[in-house]
Amino acid sequence: MVVVMASDATQADVESVVAKVEEAGGSAFVSRGVERTIVGLVGDVERFYALNLRALPGVSDVVRISVPFKLVSSEHHAQRSTVTVAGVPIGPDTFTFIAGPCAVESYEQTLESAQMAVAAGATLLRGGAFKPRTSPYAFQGLGEAGLEILQKVREETGLPIVTEVVDAADVELVARYADMLQVGTRNMQNFALLQAVGTTRLPVMLKRGMSSTIEEWLMAAEYIAQRGNLDIVLCERGIRTFETATRNTLDISAVPVVHALSHLPIIVDPSHSGGRRDLVMPLSRAAMAAGADGIIVDVHPHPESALCDGPQALVDSDLRDLATAVRTLPPLLGRAPAVRA
Ligand code: PEP
Ligand code: MN
Repeated sequence: MVVVMASDATQADVESVVAKVEEAGGSAFVSRGVERTIVGLVGDVERFYALNLRALPGVSDVVRISVPFKLVSSEHHAQRSTVTVAGVPIGPDTFTFIAGPCAVESYEQTLESAQMAVAAGATLLRGGAFKPRTSPYAFQGLGEAGLEILQKVREETGLPIVTEVVDAADVELVARYADMLQVGTRNMQNFALLQAVGTTRLPVMLKRGMSSTIEEWLMAAEYIAQRGNLDIVLCERGIRTFETATRNTLDISAVPVVHALSHLPIIVDPSHSGGRRDLVMPLSRAAMAAGADGIIVDVHPHPESALCDGPQALVDSDLRDLATAVRTLPPLLGRAPAVRA
């Protein structure tokens, strides 16, 4: 069961809901989103009904949820959420273009990638300082030095930063630099990490586990929400199938399925799904057509010497075509390209 607070509910209103639930022997988890606060209730549902919570000041609705993910479910939340990252909206009215290098390798490479992103109309910069690599011998990222580079490049270009955190112990550090925290596919069920990002006030991009069902993914998002952070954007990045022609198989149906099940925004990563530069454009178009709320794309000034994922990185000439698509197609589908507020 969830209690949906009115948009003008006060902190005292929220606290009185929590107090009533706890008096009745239940637990209450408060999640604050940009638009409204939701209180998830765990315990005896019949006792909660008897409390008549709907009559309390600041309460907009009390809803019984039939799915296991309660706070991120669309059942109590018919309107889709917009998550705002340092002034950049990700939600139903816009199409957000995130671009940048897979990994931060140097100041020059990150700055050049960010300038490519700006020229293509991207409004958020991606780039990993902590890289979760399949091989322990592969480049693991520059760590805090990489975060410092991202910060300088943000000052230089104005692009807010989306960057990955791979360990719960690093969340505080990464949160000092990032505008949005990324949780990668390999960590989708790292519950300690999910809880740690859930206690920050930063928006979180949660990538789908490469072998996870949509329900498992939404339950992972629920871990973040349950710790108080509802500013979550889901990212479909391809899943494991028997097919070997592509790095992963982009599950494009995840976009409308997630939109039906959850109020959270969902974006698509066409770079990590296909793993091939030539597939980024068609997969991006597919994402737009399926109703995704944005894309996140790898770019690199010199992909041939990239330390990570060069084969999927776009260069300037590919980016020009993608920029045209991002500018022209979403408006045909009722969305504006996202711009900074
Ligand atoms: C990334 O976006 O840099 C990344 C590592 O992606 P994924 O977690 O989807 O593999
Ligand atoms: Mn990568």
